[in-house]
Amino acid sequence: MFVTLMYHLVDDAIDDSIAVSRQAFAAQMQWLQDAGYHALTIAEAAAIAQGAAPPSPRGVLITFDDGYVDNVTHALPVLVQHGLRATLFVISAYIGQRNRWNPKACYDAWHLDWAGLRTWLAAGGDIGGHSHEHLCMTRLDEAELRAAVAVNKALLEEGLGRELVGFSYPYGVYNAAVKRAVQEHYLLAFTDTAGGWSPSAHRYAINRIGVRPEWTIEEFGKRVEVMGKLAARGE
Ligand SMILES: [Zn+2]
Repeated sequence: MFVTLMYHLVDDAIDDSIAVSRQAFAAQMQWLQDAGYHALTIAEAAAIAQGAAPPSPRGVLITFDDGYVDNVTHALPVLVQHGLRATLFVISAYIGQRNRWNPKACYDAWHLDWAGLRTWLAAGGDIGGHSHEHLCMTRLDEAELRAAVAVNKALLEEGLGRELVGFSYPYGVYNAAVKRAVQEHYLLAFTDTAGGWSPSAHRYAINRIGVRPEWTIEEFGKRVEVMGKLAARGE
């Protein structure tokens, strides 16, 4: 089993449920290190999810959705300092652009440009797919669905020279058709539903712990431990 953490923004200036402070993020990475967690690469997580590698009892997959600039400027130095690594799920249509795709966001956040994505990779991070335009995929027809997944993957692989193995559903939303489209291109996919991964879980619906800004470090630690235990029991 392993637990997967979901972050978006690491920015003190943004007041939103998906933005954690730099101080909180640093404390959380310190907690993972002190508690003996081992940060998995996305390929290691895929191997475990496929049954090709043994479950990792203290394995944690740290993920960031959307690929914001602060993931490199604020989160990456902390990850490197603690010997941890993480995966960014990137929206290919908005590379180097503002978060204009998100009508609900009342803040400006910039997405990493190609140079920023390369910096992330060079420091040992991984990249995954998050669709081309971050549309709600259950609203797309078959052709749009295939394009949302395939165009995203092809652009990122071509631009970065890396094979992508994991995908995060935009808004965490999927159905059988979305899952089928993703399955054609990826080894595993992630939801926004709280939970860990266990051998009984479907590897195209891997749950994550969405880290919230109001959590104390005790609450963070408790949730990681509880989710790990539930996942180990197959719940
Ligand atoms: Zn997203």
